[in-house]
Amino acid sequence: MKRLFKGGTVVSSEGMQDVDILVKGEKILAVGRDLAFRDAEIIDVKGKFLFPGFIDAHTHMALEVSNTVTADDFYSGTRAELAGGTTCIIDFATQYEGESLAQAIENWHQKADGKCSCDYAFHLAISQWNEEISRELEQVVKEEISSFKLYMTYDNRVDDETMYEILSRLKELGGIAGVHCENHGIISARLKEAAVRKGGRTDVSDYPWTRPKEAEAEAVGRLLKIAKCVDTPVIVVHLSTAAGYREILRAREEGQTVYVETCPQYLLLDESKYFLPAEEARRYMIAPPLRKKKNQETLWQALKEGRIQTICTDHCSFTKEQKEMGREDFAKTPCGMPGAEERPALIWQFGVNAERITPEQMCAYLSENPAKLYNLYPWKGRLIPGADADIVVWDPDAEWTMSAENMQSACDYCPMEGTKVRGRAEQVYLRGVLAAENGKVLEERTGRYVKHGAGEE
Ligand code: MN
Repeated sequence: MKRLFKGGTVVSSEGMQDVDILVKGEKILAVGRDLAFRDAEIIDVKGKFLFPGFIDAHTHMALEVSNTVTADDFYSGTRAELAGGTTCIIDFATQYEGESLAQAIENWHQKADGKCSCDYAFHLAISQWNEEISRELEQVVKEEISSFKLYMTYDNRVDDETMYEILSRLKELGGIAGVHCENHGIISARLKEAAVRKGGRTDVSDYPWTRPKEAEAEAVGRLLKIAKCVDTPVIVVHLSTAAGYREILRAREEGQTVYVETCPQYLLLDESKYFLPAEEARRYMIAPPLRKKKNQETLWQALKEGRIQTICTDHCSFTKEQKEMGREDFAKTPCGMPGAEERPALIWQFGVNAERITPEQMCAYLSENPAKLYNLYPWKGRLIPGADADIVVWDPDAEWTMSAENMQSACDYCPMEGTKVRGRAEQVYLRGVLAAENGKVLEERTGRYVKHGAGEE
């Protein structure tokens, strides 16, 4: 089966070209001007942009947290991703206490295999560290996973000594860590303080105060000092503050390599959401929290200057009813929001249409950079011969309104409800097959597990 995409504008991080794309089976066969093939099905993409399938490198599907499980499992979550134009996710397989790394990966395969409508890879969240795990890590990096998640807060946080040891071991093995940076001590103390001061924690407007910007900045700074001692690059995930960003710039001035991820919610929403009536406010409870509005301009400026590398979702969805778990105590609210389907159109609307970033930069942040950073390049992340035919046909003129009602997530609310956007993924091809069109999923459960580095044959 050959398909010829004719008349579109192909986007990469380096530029836009009016070239045709010839697809054979699952792969791109040729890219060039005025391609012609007798036996190819012609797909007229005049006036459209062709992006390499978007990659969402920060998702939590079917995650058990706060005594519940996310509303989206790998089935509904990847349908949402695909509908929006994302053809590959990287979810966080998580090692729980007493588990080997192999068990953690196996658990995530149980959750994901056979359910995904886009391709999927895993990062591995390391929660427990000892000699045995250190030995096992070699096998994991060699066979399938090169990126790891470490937390500086929550029950599965790692202390500084462990952070140093894990970063050192990853440096040896050629792996990299993405780190959730928030100071655990500040958060714990403030949660107690909020309860004492108000005689309880029902006032959601106290939530951002319990996770101040200093908690992020301190943890970013400390992580980068540890990484400096180890002499290894690290990734700061879901950066939310200008204060944290300053720590990153400082480390880079000293010559350190620091990769940074941010998320649409930190670019578009602010902490005023926590001052809504509590029931509604809890729906915006995420960690790190939404920040004061002025942080958004810093993050957009960093994107404009190419100083942030990826925009991912941190998709971690809970229904309105699940959010009610925090009614008596906001600290018991499961934290997280949906965003899988919305991400590409939001970045197009508020990034490209608003002239804050270019289409080339959008391509870099949503596709090419995550592919490179997580070892999925060049068979994902770029429309070149030999790459997977993951192609998003982007209609820059389609106008639509975001609403939970017309979207694929199992979550029953959309944080961007009512947002009008111009531009959407008109067609989404997953390895050569038309899998979604205008927000409708046409092919489900055809996603394949992808190993980091697996394309290097
Ligand atoms: Mn996350």
